[in-house]
Amino acid sequence: MQKVAVVALGCPKNTVEAEYLLGIFRSKGFEITNNIEEADISVIHTCSFIKTAKEESEKAIRSVLSVKKKNGLRVYVSGCLPQLLQNKMSSMFPEIDGYVGTGTLKELPQLIFNKGFDKSLLAPGGLNESKYRVLSSSLPSTYLKIAEGCWHKCSFCIIPSLRGNYESRSIKSLVDEAKSLADNGIKELILIAQDTTSYGYDIYGAFALDKLLSKLAKINGLKWIRLLYAYPSSVNDSLIAVFKEHKNICNYMDIPIQHISKNVLSAMRRPLNTASIIEKIKNKLPDIILRTSIITGFPGENKSDINELISFLEQGYFQYVGVFEYSNQKEADSSKLKKQIKNSVAIERKILVENAQYSVFKSKIDSIKGNNIEFIVENCSQRASDGKYNITGRCYFQAPEIDGHVTFLSNNPLKSGEFYNGKITGVKGYNIKVTIGEI
Ligand code: SF4
Repeated sequence: MQKVAVVALGCPKNTVEAEYLLGIFRSKGFEITNNIEEADISVIHTCSFIKTAKEESEKAIRSVLSVKKKNGLRVYVSGCLPQLLQNKMSSMFPEIDGYVGTGTLKELPQLIFNKGFDKSLLAPGGLNESKYRVLSSSLPSTYLKIAEGCWHKCSFCIIPSLRGNYESRSIKSLVDEAKSLADNGIKELILIAQDTTSYGYDIYGAFALDKLLSKLAKINGLKWIRLLYAYPSSVNDSLIAVFKEHKNICNYMDIPIQHISKNVLSAMRRPLNTASIIEKIKNKLPDIILRTSIITGFPGENKSDINELISFLEQGYFQYVGVFEYSNQKEADSSKLKKQIKNSVAIERKILVENAQYSVFKSKIDSIKGNNIEFIVENCSQRASDGKYNITGRCYFQAPEIDGHVTFLSNNPLKSGEFYNGKITGVKGYNIKVTIGEI
């Protein structure tokens, strides 16, 4: 039996696709391995939406090709890098055995099985569903990709060209998958897409995320349903109402705004009324915890734009802000804009915004010190020094990988995937320190 290893790079959407791919490989009789050295076949599922991601993908391909030199492993590349580079892939990596883009991923296992590869298959899109899936984490938390592609035209972004137009999955197929995940012990389901809040408009003629969330909230065993990648102008009243209706929809939303100054938002081709949308959400859901993403150093951004952004953030709408310095992609329309800003200035502004946001975060957590908070345990490791256990976990307002952890020391080991209560005592960076009663 041939052994296959899949390396997933980039965003959680790629993680889900890699899990579907592993499921399809297994259904065709391949054995799955995480160890490239022992694999007969390796697939590198890549990312290329900004320069650093592209470089990381190229580095991963070279590292796997160095294994090929030793053991003759067959190497295939998939996803956003081949979709971006197209047939330049062959000249850049002549040693690879084949590559597919984003829309032809599901054909890869069959082509490898039949050894019928004609070197490239490139079409934008995504592997949006599969009855086969091999989860890459043992934790009871996973992602559900509800749609692929994007209909927006943000001037700095090349994702629509890599992933094609917006394509929702049906509510039935999503609920079926969510039920099977819950039946297999998943307690936290994290909804993802390029833009989750436009879900359904392409297949139902109207935004239908509220309907999907209502159905998912009724599935037994799902304790936390979390929404990431909301798009400001498609957060409507019926979606806000669903957050109030269901206790197991986390009172948390990731809603990238990218900036707040109208001067910058218009150059980004993003909603100019972003500030009033955020104010509306916080007025209707005062206790919701918001996360956002910001780009600093966008062409044409000036000091007063940054000051306007910082004063908006200091009003405390967001608990978490991921800040990124502008990455000039030659394939993106924004690369043609005048007043490009030096990368060093973009990074200076990034640090300014991060520091301002950290004070907001700290004061928010200080204001709930002493409160009890429920959290899921994700890791428990014993200290050699005194035999005590370092425990890390997450609470309802911490998404995986991006919002820090709940941390504490325990005399006894705690079971990963279980929920516990603790009292908030403070912060360390973005981690929240708690104490728990004797267990
Ligand atoms: S909404 Fe997101 S994925 Fe779509 S174009 Fe804008 S930044 Fe890119």
